[in-house]
Formats: sequence, C-alpha cells, structure tokens
Amino acid sequence: MNDNFLNFLSSESIEFTTGVQLSKFSYFKTGGTASVIIFPDSQKQLSLCFKWIDNHDLAFKVIGDTCNVMFLDNVDYGIFISTTRISSIFYNSDKSIITAECGALLPELSRFALSYSVTGFEGFEGIPGTVGAAVFMNAGAYGDEIKSVIDSLDVLLPDGTLKTYSLKQLRLSHRNSIFRSENKNEIIVCARFKANIGHLLTIYNRMSLLHAKRHKYQEWMYPTLGSIYSGSIYRSLAKKDLYYKFISSIYYLVFYKLKLFRREAPDNRKWLNDFTVKRFGITYDKQPFSNKDMNTLINNDHSTDDLLDYLDQLHELIGNDIPIENEIVKKF
Ligand SMILES: Cc1cc2nc3c(=O)[nH]c(=O)nc-3n(C[C@H](O)[C@H](O)[C@H](O)COP(=O)(O)OP(=O)(O)OC[C@H]3O[C@@H](n4cnc5c(N)ncnc54)[C@H](O)[C@@H]3O)c2cc1C
Repeated sequence: MNDNFLNFLSSESIEFTTGVQLSKFSYFKTGGTASVIIFPDSQKQLSLCFKWIDNHDLAFKVIGDTCNVMFLDNVDYGIFISTTRISSIFYNSDKSIITAECGALLPELSRFALSYSVTGFEGFEGIPGTVGAAVFMNAGAYGDEIKSVIDSLDVLLPDGTLKTYSLKQLRLSHRNSIFRSENKNEIIVCARFKANIGHLLTIYNRMSLLHAKRHKYQEWMYPTLGSIYSGSIYRSLAKKDLYYKFISSIYYLVFYKLKLFRREAPDNRKWLNDFTVKRFGITYDKQPFSNKDMNTLINNDHSTDDLLDYLDQLHELIGNDIPIENEIVKKF
C-alpha cells in the first residue's frame, strides 16, 4: 500500500487497518485480503479520504457492514472505506424528520423510530447493514421499504462538497436506486426520513411479529448474504416447467396454506429443495444454499468458486427473470 496514503491517514488521525483478511472481517466470511480498510469516524474524515483518493487517482470501494457483498477468495483487493463509524441518528420533532448518518445500522434506525412512535420502519428491524447501503439498494421487507419513508439525502462528491438528492431524484425502485444503476462516484453520507407518528404499541406489536417471522424463515446457522435474487426462485422455475409448477403448488397448498399435517408451516423447504435439485439437475459437492430457501447462499466452509458455480447454474435456469440482489465484488 502507498506509504504516502497511510502517512496522510495517520496525520489526520483517521483509523485504518492494513492487510485485512476478508474471510475473517466480512459478514459472509469469504474473500482474500484487502490492502487497507479505512474507518473514518465523521463526515469530515470521510471527505478528506475521498478527496485524497480522488486526487491520487486510486481505486476504492465504499462498504457498510458487508451484508450484501461476496468477496472472492484468492483476490487481493485494494482500498475499502468503511462507513460503520459514522453512525449518529437524530430526531427533529418540529420538522418531523429523522436524520441517520450512512453507517447507522438499519435495525438501530428501526428501533430509534419505535422509541418516538414513528411508523413505517417496522420491517427494517431485521435487515442487517447500514443506512447508506439500504438506500443504495432501496432495502425493504414485509411491505416496508426505504422508498416509502425517505425524504432526501446528502452525498459526498470527490471534491469534498455535498449534494442533496430529493426522493424523486433517487429513482428508487425494487432493490434499486440511481446509485446502484448508474455506479456513481459519490458516497451517501446521510439520509432524512419522514417521521409519521403512529401508535406505539401497534408499532411494537408489528415489529415483534416480523422479528419472529424472520427468525423462522431466515437462515441463521451459517453465514449468509440474505436473498440471492429479489424474488422467489421457485416461482421463477415454475414458469419454466409445468410439472414442477404442479408439484410445487401442491407442496405450498398442503404445507403452507392448508397446513394439513401440522399447525404451523414447516421452517425449511428441504423436501422441495431436494425435488428442485433433481428436477433441474443442479449439481454441487456440498450444498451451497440454505435448507430454508434455495435463494440464500450459505458459507459452510465453501470456497467462493463453489458458490459462484451454484450462482451460474441458477443464472442458466432463471436468466434475467428476477433481478439479482447479492453483489460479487470483483478485483478493482
Ligand atoms: C441475513 C440477511 C438478511 C437480509 N434481509 C434483507 C431484507 O429483508 N431486505 C433487504 O432489502 N435486504 C436484505 N439483506 C441484504 C442486506 O441486508 C442489505 O443489502 C443491506 O442494505 C446491506 O447493508 P451493508 O451496510 O451491509 O452494505 P454492504 O454489503 O457493505 O454494501 C452493499 C452495497 O452498498 C454500497 N454502499 C454501502 N454504503 C454506501 C454509501 N454510504 N454510499 C454509497 N454506496 C454505499 C456498497 O458499495 C455496496 O455496493 C439481508 C442480508 C442478510 C445477510
């Protein structure tokens, strides 16, 4: 790593770590090394880093909590800027606005909203990751999404100035935004959210219910990256194969709608997964997906080559029927 850069960071008291093993650092526990990860703790420090990097034409990638990104084994990456230390959240009751900095965690924002009886954030309680990334991909769950509550946001430009985006300018759509679709050289620094007051107990009860649902349907035994695709891969496969559609519809009817054999729906889809694997000829040495949902990668000591192989097979089957949500970080 460029010594001048590290000297600059030290002179500005900006924290950094060099030679980071991403397989230990990242949420999904994969990846080679990062030559340096920088942890600015204020918007000012973030701006200083961005300016220096831009002036010296260095490549970098901004990261939040790395919950949606898969780093590849055997790749030595360069510079990452982590936003996780820029994480304050404020409430302005006069303007009915909650402001969250980019590195604030989405579950924290959700609970912060609860504490002021602000509604519309309940579905975010179980979505891991930071506010900046949540806007980047218009995160959402259970009918709540960033698009419904965001008012505006500020980004940092490489010259250190701020630019404000209105809701309309963000072009938020299903798991997408102008930042994701246009690969902009801008860093989201804070977002302002509309604070609609609701009923405290109603908000709390909904959040509790969603929390329990998520725990049931989400993989928690192995590291994961949430959903691979934003949409059901079972439904997508059913469009391709009438026999599969028939069998999977019966499965859903019996186990999920009518719940014929138990009072509750099963907490995994192992039977349907096994059937899907056989029917579509999916191959692997060690199962690369969760028993709960084939749309979730797991890292059970997998190499990223094995995981990419599974992703390629899914892509062959599904094509562009539903958009991919997980991001693979290539060398930059
Ligand atoms: C168990 C699990 C469950 C999940 N459930 C859901 C769910 O229900 N709904 C949902 O929408 N998502 C879900 N996800 C995906 C993930 O939580 C979201 O994508 C989240 O927004 C990622 O946040 P992060 O901070 O970890 O971002 P990262 O993975 O670190 O980054 C994601 C992308 O955002 C960019 N980025 C990050 N910060 C900034 C910034 N400040 N400015 C500009 N670009 C930035 C990065 O460059 C990268 O391209 C789930 C993930 C897991 C692991």
